[in-house]
Amino acid sequence: TAAISIRGLQKTYPNGLQALKGIDLEVAAGDFFALLGPNGAGKSTTIGILSSLVNKSAGEVRIFGHDIDRELMAAKRCIGVVPQEFNFSQFEKVMDILVTQAGFYGIGPALARERAEHYLRRLGLWDKRNEPSRMLSGGMKRRLMIARALIHQPRLLILDEPTAGVDIEIRRSMWQFLEEINAQGVTIVLTTHYLEEAEQLCRNIAIIDRGRIIEDTSMRELLKQL
Ligand code: ADP
Ligand code: ADP
Repeated sequence: TAAISIRGLQKTYPNGLQALKGIDLEVAAGDFFALLGPNGAGKSTTIGILSSLVNKSAGEVRIFGHDIDRELMAAKRCIGVVPQEFNFSQFEKVMDILVTQAGFYGIGPALARERAEHYLRRLGLWDKRNEPSRMLSGGMKRRLMIARALIHQPRLLILDEPTAGVDIEIRRSMWQFLEEINAQGVTIVLTTHYLEEAEQLCRNIAIIDRGRIIEDTSMRELLKQL
């Protein structure tokens, strides 16, 4: 089964703005996939629907075969999401943030700490484990959000502009980390408006513009056309 299967997806916001005008998209299990498009194209809306933060207006979405209308909890367990905005308590400590998150998935503190240590070490945040999150730099916060998204070991990791505003060295180390977890079998979907980021990382790509998919191809084919 595909990691993501989207059919006829539409979103009209309450103010009447049609952000998605009927999207079809399939992401294979194990893929490293980019959703590329200019600001306002509908990338965040698509991700919001996949992570059930935004209600769709029409269409069908399946995550590893689980229809989000009928099997939302099963779908959610398969997904880890790294939002664009830093959205956790400024005062909670790094380790506690991860243990709390794990608790939402019924993972007890001992196992949560073990997993948290693994990801914090791999992401270069282990020394920060007892710091309140407000003490972290922007790039560290971004990495903490990645650790948090992985704590329940999802099969699919979705990242919204993961390296926006992150300096080049940290960006490279984040790319390397994402490549490693993809090699371990985690499907990765990221949105970006940098072609270079997609080119570096992704095997397949869809380009979205004004609420429609205008290209859906392999990275290799896309680069041939440019
Ligand atoms: P980005 O371009 O970085 O993806 P957006 O501008 O799309 O960010 O969204 C930032 C926040 O503002 C989101 O929470 C989004 O839902 C909200 N937002 C964006 N555009 C509008 C709009 N036209 N009306 C109301 N809220 C909006
Ligand atoms: P992207 O992530 O590609 O920048 P978005 O999905 O954030 O695009 O936005 C797609 C369109 O929907 C934009 O025109 C944006 O202004 C609009 N939009 C986003 N969020 C809202 C919202 N909460 N209310 C109204 N319009 C919104």
